[in-house]
Amino acid sequence: MKKTNIIAAAAVLLLTSCTDRTPYQEQISFFSMDTYMEITAYGHVNGSLADCKDEIYRLEALLAVTDEASDIGRLNAAGTADVSPDTAEIIKYAKQIGGETGGALDITVYPVLKEWGFTTGDYNVPDKDTLNTLLQRVDFTQIQVEENTVPAVAVPSGVQLDLGALAKGYASDKAAGILRQQGITSALINLGGNIMAIGENPGSGAPWRIGIRTPFSLDENIGVIEVTDKAVVTSGSYERCFTAEDGQTYHHIIDPATGCPARSGLVSATVVGDSGIMCDALSTALFVMGADKAAEYHREKGGFDMILVTEEGEILITEGVADSFTNLANLPLTVLG
Ligand code: ADP
Ligand code: MG
Repeated sequence: MKKTNIIAAAAVLLLTSCTDRTPYQEQISFFSMDTYMEITAYGHVNGSLADCKDEIYRLEALLAVTDEASDIGRLNAAGTADVSPDTAEIIKYAKQIGGETGGALDITVYPVLKEWGFTTGDYNVPDKDTLNTLLQRVDFTQIQVEENTVPAVAVPSGVQLDLGALAKGYASDKAAGILRQQGITSALINLGGNIMAIGENPGSGAPWRIGIRTPFSLDENIGVIEVTDKAVVTSGSYERCFTAEDGQTYHHIIDPATGCPARSGLVSATVVGDSGIMCDALSTALFVMGADKAAEYHREKGGFDMILVTEEGEILITEGVADSFTNLANLPLTVLG
């Protein structure tokens, strides 16, 4: 994707003022996976942040769809490729969530994304015939993953993958693993709005306060969620979008059923849970599914919480995080049972 087209994080960190109790902290910022990343760790940080950055660069080199030499670049060019265990793991997880969400998450949507110009910024509204032809290639069930010592992946001719919907979540899990392994008990990992909060805020001794950006006014937060040891990931229609000659605004989350940007009645879907890859994959999928199907999925599967914002400006929030959420914009709010 175009580097100039980066829109800031969907979920932004609220700046907390340092108090005397704030222990030694270190921060690292860098650009990777087409977005700005910032990791802050507290206590005896040593080389941990550099290790996180190296790990994320390593993953980017494996996963970047625009890099011909990456696992995904080679697979998309040849239809088959030996890949790293990381790539195989992400693909298998994406297939699982694709199945569970009725295809709302489909990592083979890439040919459609390209046609819309979301990969280059050279935007275009495709006609129906073009989309229908491209949609014949969109089917994650066609991806074969062979688990050898060196895993191999194969797809039918014309099928192409893009792991953009869940790569940052996976990267946040890896970075959190490095920090925890190195004894860090308090840190905030912000990979372009994919947040992973480790422990608590050491300054206040309270949970981390994560701001959820309002889709209606981008410089404000719709609310704040307090979390300890959780990932918080938002997908929204207000990111990476363009307005076409027809006056309509089109965004980068595609409904694999239509090949068009999802119009599910939601403007954002935030998922809170233990695993970064789960929250990232689900935020994209639930956004495509819309409020009713998302609520049904939550009732059936559980294991996560969510905050949905509808086009009408209503907040739907699951019980597990309702008490940790502050409704800053005072929008009408419904707690899902
Ligand atoms: P962000 O780009 O902010 O991380 P998401 O996690 O929601 O947002 O991922 C959106 C990206 O996932 C798109 O830019 C595209 O690469 C890819 N994508 C879009 N629609 C789908 C879909 N239905 N299933 C899987 N991947 C998708
Ligand atoms: Mg996602």
